Amino acid sequence: MKIKAFTFNMFGVNTYLIWNEQTRNAAVIDPGMINADEQRAFNSFIQSNDLKLTAMVNTHMHIDHSAGNYYIAADYGLPTTCNPEDAYLADNLTAQADMFGIPYNGNEAHIQKELHEGDEITLADTKFRVLHIPGHTKGHIVLYAPSENVLFSGDALFQMSIGRTDLPGGDYTALIQNLQAKVLTLPRETVVYPGHGPKTTIGFEVDNNPYF
Ligand SMILES: [Zn+2]
Repeated sequence: MKIKAFTFNMFGVNTYLIWNEQTRNAAVIDPGMINADEQRAFNSFIQSNDLKLTAMVNTHMHIDHSAGNYYIAADYGLPTTCNPEDAYLADNLTAQADMFGIPYNGNEAHIQKELHEGDEITLADTKFRVLHIPGHTKGHIVLYAPSENVLFSGDALFQMSIGRTDLPGGDYTALIQNLQAKVLTLPRETVVYPGHGPKTTIGFEVDNNPYF
């Protein structure tokens, strides 16, 4: 599995594009492209690498992670795929954009395909396990691929930090408990690709993250 990280919008969100080198099947995680330039950058990468975009998944529905959902839906015909407990955010993208002062020209991104704790989903021909990690938002999920030793952690876990819990639906205790029970127990060599900032590993976070 190949991984390309784009950094999009004024919040510097990591939008991940993953693909299988043989089949060229690709998936996008957290499409945060906010304007025509960022949409073009994403689109031209897809085209110049001969990729077939077949899935779109959101770790959660904050506007910086989902500003590009409407564009991916329109251009690639892909449904918004997320945990349904984040509907309170998905149904209010415009209000979120207003709250954060983001110039957003899209519409709401109603959740059309649901992912739940323990689900298995195939993205870019790789099997991922869905882990529900509420606390940053109610429906926040992370995506773990055991065969690749890879975790997409969204805004639950960052290098040396964790997601903020002071926004609507936030819960500090839930975030810490879920991370400790389900994420920090993954193999130490697991490479963590967060929603913001550089990648890290489970081992490094167990040893160094000041929140644990
Ligand atoms: Zn967030």
